[in-house]
Amino acid sequence: MGISAKLTKAINEQITEEYQSAYTYESMAYKLESMNLVVFAKWFRIQAAEEREHAERFSKYLLDRGEEVVLKALAAPKGTWKSCLAICEAALRSEIVITEKIDDLVNLASKEKDNTTYSFLLWFVNEQVEEEANAKFLLDLIKLATKPAQALMLEGRVRRLIEERTG
Ligand code: MG
Repeated sequence: MGISAKLTKAINEQITEEYQSAYTYESMAYKLESMNLVVFAKWFRIQAAEEREHAERFSKYLLDRGEEVVLKALAAPKGTWKSCLAICEAALRSEIVITEKIDDLVNLASKEKDNTTYSFLLWFVNEQVEEEANAKFLLDLIKLATKPAQALMLEGRVRRLIEERTG
């Protein structure tokens, strides 16, 4: 049995959101590289890869349920961040927005009594707890750097976090 047209459309929109999110994280990584914050940049590249995996997970689900994947155009990333702090703040805000969008999907699946989709979406509900926590952690860390050069000193800490995450 397939998914309702409304829910299929909403999941397709979420697939574009995930790719958009990946695109924005890539843009953040380039900006951080331009600031010589290569380890922070690596963190954002890992985030971008995760977002693409999210898009693929949603896409596979639609295909498994016999629905079509329809990709939409991506917007140009904002890319006007002036500091690592501004990037980390934007990243946390972005994750909070994604969490809200996932919640909307869960509510729609629930409203439509689509238990299969509801169950599928719970993975993302849990994933967003981790995504927000990671973004918050990075933001708290960069807040410790009151001068731009101090961000460089935090890179060792970020490297260890990456090692823990990618194990
Ligand atoms: Mg995601």
